[in-house]
Amino acid sequence: MARQMLAVVKDGGTTELRQVPAPEVRQPGELVVRVMKAGICRTDLLAAEGQLDTAPTLVLGHEFSGVIEAVGKNPHRLRAGDRVTVNPVGACGNCEQCQAGDRTNCMEPRFLGLRVDGGFAEYVRLTADAVIKLPNRLSFTEGAYAEPVAAGLAVLKAGIRPEDTGLICGTNRIARLIQRILFARGFRAVECVDPAAGPRLGPGRYDFAIETDPSPRDFAMMLGAIRRRGTIILRSRLHRHIEFPLSAALHKEPVLQVVNYGPFGDAVDLLASRALELGDLFGREYPLEDFAAAFADARNGEAKKLFLAVGPD
Ligand SMILES: [Zn+2]
Ligand SMILES: [Zn+2]
Repeated sequence: MARQMLAVVKDGGTTELRQVPAPEVRQPGELVVRVMKAGICRTDLLAAEGQLDTAPTLVLGHEFSGVIEAVGKNPHRLRAGDRVTVNPVGACGNCEQCQAGDRTNCMEPRFLGLRVDGGFAEYVRLTADAVIKLPNRLSFTEGAYAEPVAAGLAVLKAGIRPEDTGLICGTNRIARLIQRILFARGFRAVECVDPAAGPRLGPGRYDFAIETDPSPRDFAMMLGAIRRRGTIILRSRLHRHIEFPLSAALHKEPVLQVVNYGPFGDAVDLLASRALELGDLFGREYPLEDFAAAFADARNGEAKKLFLAVGPD
């Protein structure tokens, strides 16, 4: 019988811990990673709740780190024992973006934990181009945080400059992470704003505004805050539709910039540089067996990133 492993499996309307066959390397370019730490993200919760379009049965989880257990022939000089983190995009390799070398922004991604088996499991099968080696000085928990950092780095693609004045809508964990990323990249005048309280500077004083969990009220606030032809950066992965006040936008003629991910290699380098203070953003770690309690706690508050501790650190 094939080797078995524990995994958090979404199967139709239920999500449960199951024994399933452990994945194996089937062809060149593939590898199997033994998962060490996995972060729990809003996307995982929505997938478990059936609010996202996912494969009917699959292992959840897309933010994780681990050790290469087995590896087929690959051009990346990866070996068993390498410590790695993962880009969950699952590039198709064929589309325009992939052909141009930008696999992170693949047009037809098979996203881990949504379309193919993810990392809330003892082992996961990946393609060699999906892993990024972790420097020894980074813990597996820090390594599992590369995906949120890469998502945060994406705002730099919006043409904003360090001398710009910016606001980040929200005071949540993601807002604070983006602020720290921008400070690490030399920005000085970027504040996190509680939408209920409003920005510190007056209307029209900001070059850009970044949403972190948008509501129609947030858009109204951001439109009021930015200067004429300022930039509004949309980076949330919302799957529902949301109202946008077009008539208010007319007067400002804002640039709306949607961004996905920045480079995962840059995210690992930034983590390794220790330029980001992370201690207060990281919350509890739960054994894989307690995933249901971890999911419930993650639903109750997004102030801290919660992790599943799958293997020993
Ligand atoms: Zn995520
Ligand atoms: Zn592609």
